[in-house]
Amino acid sequence: DKPNSISAKDTTYHLHPYTNLKAHEEQGPLVITRGEGVRVFGEDGKEYIEGLSGLWCASLGFNEPRLVKAAQKQMETLPFYHSFTGKVPDVTAELAEKLVDVTPDGLDRALFCNSGSEANDTAIKLVWYYNNARGKPEKKKIISREKAYHGVTIAAGSMTGLAYAQNGFDLPASERILQTSCPHYYRYGLDGESEEAFATRMASELEELILAEGPETVGAMFAEPIQGAGGVILPPMGYFEKIQAVLKKYDVLLIADEVICGFGRTGKMFGSQTYNIKPDMMTLAKQMSSGYLPISALMVSDGLYQVVKERSNELGVFGHGLTYGGHPVPCAVALEVLKIYEERDIVAQVNAISPYFQDRLATYADHPLVGEVRGTGLIGAIELSADKASKTPFDPSLGMGAGLVKKCENHGLILRAMPGDCVAFCPPLISEQTDLDALFSRFDAALAEM
Ligand code: PLP
Repeated sequence: DKPNSISAKDTTYHLHPYTNLKAHEEQGPLVITRGEGVRVFGEDGKEYIEGLSGLWCASLGFNEPRLVKAAQKQMETLPFYHSFTGKVPDVTAELAEKLVDVTPDGLDRALFCNSGSEANDTAIKLVWYYNNARGKPEKKKIISREKAYHGVTIAAGSMTGLAYAQNGFDLPASERILQTSCPHYYRYGLDGESEEAFATRMASELEELILAEGPETVGAMFAEPIQGAGGVILPPMGYFEKIQAVLKKYDVLLIADEVICGFGRTGKMFGSQTYNIKPDMMTLAKQMSSGYLPISALMVSDGLYQVVKERSNELGVFGHGLTYGGHPVPCAVALEVLKIYEERDIVAQVNAISPYFQDRLATYADHPLVGEVRGTGLIGAIELSADKASKTPFDPSLGMGAGLVKKCENHGLILRAMPGDCVAFCPPLISEQTDLDALFSRFDAALAEM
C-alpha cells in the first residue's frame, strides 16, 4: 500500500538533503505548506516565524505578490529560452545590466547560473581559463578558509571548510584546493592578542601558505564577507585590508562569495562594501530573487572579460553554459526583486531596523549559556559556551545548539544551529519591530527552558 500522509511520502520516497536520514525516517519531517510575511505555516496550521529567511534568502518574506505577478507574466510571455550560441531572452540581458548597475564599480559583466554552488564552481573555471589565457597556466590553486561555506558541488564542496559537508565524500577532491585559517577572533584569538594583531596574524598565515605552495601556483582566494554557515563569523577589524594586500602582492585573485551577504543583509548593498573588499569577481544568489526561484550570477571585471573574450575567439567558443543559466522566469523575478529593493530603499530599511535587532541580540551576552553574541545589519548569531570565562565549548555530543533550535521550533520560531553550538539569526529584510519582538520573545522562552 502506498503511504497517504505527506509525512509518510517524505520518509518513504524522499532522499533528504542535510538531514540524518536514519533519524529522519523515525521522526518524520516538519511539513510546511504556506507562507505569509515573515511567517510560514505547518500542515497542522501551526505558525512559525522564519528567523533564517528560509535559508538566508527570503528577504521579502513569503508572499510578495509582485514576484508572483512577475513570474506569471514571464511564464505567459516566454517560459523558457536559453543564452547559448548568441541568443538571449530579453529579461536576461536586462538583468545583466541591472546587476552591473547595483554591484560595486569594477564588476562589469554577469554570467548566470542557478545556485550558489554553481556560481562558485564557475568562478573557479574562469580563474583557470583566465590564467591560461594570460600565460600563467601554473596559477591554478584556490584558497578558501576553514568554516567557509561555498556550496556542495565537487569544486564548491571542496572549498567548503566544514567537516559535515565533506565527511564521507572524500572531499576536497583536488590538491588544487587549499585552506587558510578561519578569522574568528573570539574562538581563535590568542590570550592578550588584540583584534588587529589577530588580523595581522591571519594575513601572515595566508602569506606563508602562498609562499609554501609557490605564488606562481596560486590563482585565487574565495571569501564570504561574513562566514554564514560557519557560524556567522564577522571578520576582525582590518582583516580584509591586510588579506587583500597579500593577495595583490602575489597576483592572486579575490572572489567575494556574496551569496548570503549580498543585497542589503549587512546594512550596505554588498558585504564587500561593509568590509572594504574590492573583489575581482563576485558570486550572487539567494536574496537576488528573494529565494523565490533558483538563480545565481558570477560578476566579473571588464579586464578579465577582455582576456576571456580573446581566448574564446582563439578557441572558437567560450565553452561554458548551463541550460537554465539566465532562465527568463527567475530573471524576471530577480528584476522585480531589484526594483522592489530600489523603490523601498531596502538598505535604508535594514539600517532603520537593524539597531533594534542588534540591541535585542546583544542582551543575550549576559546569559550564562552564551559565550559570544555577534552580528551586523540583519544577521547575527549567539554562540553557546559551557564556561563563559574560559570560552569552553559544550561537549558536542550534548547537541546544545540543535537542542535550543528544537525548543525554538516548539515555540514557533525557526532558526538554525551551526557547528560549535552557534545559533544563527537572519530574519527577512522586511521584518518590522513587532516581528522581531515576536521572534525574540519566542527565543527567550526556548532559551529559558535550556
Ligand atoms: N555560498 C554561500 C556563502 C552560501 O551560504 C551558500 C548556501 O548556503 C552557497 C554558496 C551555496 O549555494 P547553493 O545552496 O545555492 O548552491
